[in-house]
Amino acid sequence: MTQINPREVASEQLKKICDKLGIEDEVYEMLRQHERIVIVKVPYHTPDGKLHVTVGYRAQHNSALGPYKGGVRYHRNVTLDEVKALSMRMTRKNSLAGLPYGGGKGGVVVPKEVIEGARKKHDPARIKTMEEISRNYFRAISPFVGVDLDIPAPDVYTNPQVMARFLDEYQRYTGQKVFGVVTAKPIELGGGRFRGASTGRSTAVAAREAANALLGGIEGKTVSIQGFGNAGQYAAKFLAEFGAKIVAVSDSKGGVYDPNGLDVEKLIQVKKETGSVVNYPGGKKISSDEPLFLDVDILVPAALEGVITKDNADKVKAKIISEAANGPITPEADEILVKKGTFVIPDILANSGGVIGSYLERVQNRIMYRYGAEREKKEIEKKIVENVKKILDRKDEFGGDGRMAAYAIAVERVVNAMKLRGRI
Ligand code: GLU
Repeated sequence: MTQINPREVASEQLKKICDKLGIEDEVYEMLRQHERIVIVKVPYHTPDGKLHVTVGYRAQHNSALGPYKGGVRYHRNVTLDEVKALSMRMTRKNSLAGLPYGGGKGGVVVPKEVIEGARKKHDPARIKTMEEISRNYFRAISPFVGVDLDIPAPDVYTNPQVMARFLDEYQRYTGQKVFGVVTAKPIELGGGRFRGASTGRSTAVAAREAANALLGGIEGKTVSIQGFGNAGQYAAKFLAEFGAKIVAVSDSKGGVYDPNGLDVEKLIQVKKETGSVVNYPGGKKISSDEPLFLDVDILVPAALEGVITKDNADKVKAKIISEAANGPITPEADEILVKKGTFVIPDILANSGGVIGSYLERVQNRIMYRYGAEREKKEIEKKIVENVKKILDRKDEFGGDGRMAAYAIAVERVVNAMKLRGRI
């Protein structure tokens, strides 16, 4: 597979939309460049007592609309370019969602054995290492984050427990009992009650709305899901609730397929108990990537970026793709899909429930009042329904390309804010 540089992809997509909207090159340059990049040293000890040093990043892309906002990812392959690209996407995502936020993203290079030991095997020694990494990373970036400056949240391989460590470390560092500096915290520490379900909810609602408009409804429509972490699980759960039929699901170990439909509750239970959906009783065993190419109505890529490329886009048969993952489709693959008539609900809309949930959490932290899960769920629903309609209304301006329609709305709003501020 050709190596894809995520920062170049994010820039390329931005350039494409700027050209289409007649935005000048110098404004494109202002939109592309990051305002600040923080790179920090993160020391930690392995269970044998040995000291190691890894690296952490926080990319602060654009703050025209408000404080930087976006998750922190832990992965052995995290690179600065990846974090930069993801923060550019956050600027667009937050803008499209109409949130008072700019875009930011963080990442820490964390060895696989630490992540797997802590997350899957619940090994106390690895959990300790993970905690040390979380605290040391957050202390190092603490001068650059804040409730009105930059508000981190989870992303790939981070979760509410990691957010709890971030919060605690920040409060120790500042001596201030500020809660809204990190979102998607455990509920006991001020986390939004619906935050855990919010990313998958938006992916499912977006798919439902698109299916209603383009396929005559969601009832009985077939769905395949690649990736079965938090977002994939909740997307499956809500799509099943809407009456869709989940026929295939996979994770990094492999997948399972049953044209008659899979039992989502069982899948979630099997994943929780055994670590993988491959242990689901029944169905046919398939590879991790196979859900991408099955003959289904709706595809949900919910794993990592760059899984649908120019080399395999031709094989995609789904009519609608709702991107739970960030950046699962490369720009060249996008062109192939648009030509085929596949409707893609881009990540910045399909998974934006996560950051909308984060926004609602921070609002509640600031006013020291709990809205409750129902209100959070309703507010997310409203924004997603409106935004799917907006991109369906504008997609023809962009040759049927839903991603470009979404980018147009997002970029126009950022450009307007930058103009009002006199930055461009
Ligand atoms: N990491 C998530 C995203 O990519 C959530 C960000 C947030 O809640 O700030 O949208």
